[in-house]
Amino acid sequence: MAEQVLVTLDCELLDADEPLLHADDMAALRGDGVFETLLVRRGKALNLEAHLARLAHSAELLDLPETAPSDWRDAVAMAVQRWGDRREGALRLVYSRGRENAGSAITAYVLVSPLNQRVHQARSSGVTVITLERGYASDLKEFAPWLLLGAKTLSYAVNMAAIRYALRNGADDAVFVSSDGYVLEGPRSTVMILRGRELLTPPLDYGVLPGTTQQAVFAMAEEYGFTATYAPLTVVDLINADGAWLVSSVALGARITSLNGIRMPEPAAAVEVARLVDRAVEKAD
Ligand code: PLP
Repeated sequence: MAEQVLVTLDCELLDADEPLLHADDMAALRGDGVFETLLVRRGKALNLEAHLARLAHSAELLDLPETAPSDWRDAVAMAVQRWGDRREGALRLVYSRGRENAGSAITAYVLVSPLNQRVHQARSSGVTVITLERGYASDLKEFAPWLLLGAKTLSYAVNMAAIRYALRNGADDAVFVSSDGYVLEGPRSTVMILRGRELLTPPLDYGVLPGTTQQAVFAMAEEYGFTATYAPLTVVDLINADGAWLVSSVALGARITSLNGIRMPEPAAAVEVARLVDRAVEKAD
């Protein structure tokens, strides 16, 4: 097994090759829990506070007991220290409801793993993308709270299936589109486009996950001479954009090089945008 680091929320360092979950953990039985993934670089967990805030928000949407951010910070610090500063890692915060019928005892841990080879490829060469139906309208979130839109739950089977479907169809990744024709997000990324000097991303009330990377980018955009706007986007808007990216905590900015088979030329500002994404997550905390 690849080297990994595993630390529980109460700061116990465990052997990641040994079993941790019970067979009746609600994570395994129902995907009933929440998680976060962030980048470890040069011995630091990047944009940690935004991830802790989103974890708390997701947990609240699932009526999970509140956890102390300071406990997560301590566990993350221990895991990152153990991981070291020589290479990047993907750090996951995992929080499930715990064992079935076990009362209030939650399951919570931090796991650091090596980056997948595809991540390096996406950063350096970009990604080819197809659009896929998500099956709900862009305004569903406001009247269907039980669907947990906007929460990062452990139930990612649909997202992983979308990625496998994209791969089977010759693309590297996917972009979900709502039933009323609006661009939503990638199965594990936020969609961001460039029009002139304007960066645009779909509105958060479209039931997408609020991206910590996109938000960090928007907060720093002005410094780089860009304006940042939330706006409804269609697939045609993506194709007509000067540039389009899938942004996320680990892959950072993966430029979309083709969409549904249509080539997307590299914009003059591609290097600038890549630098902005990188700096934004480095400087976010
Ligand atoms: N949307 C979805 C569905 C995701 O799973 C992710 C990240 O995994 C994102 C957006 C991007 O979020 P972040 O920038 O916080 O990694």
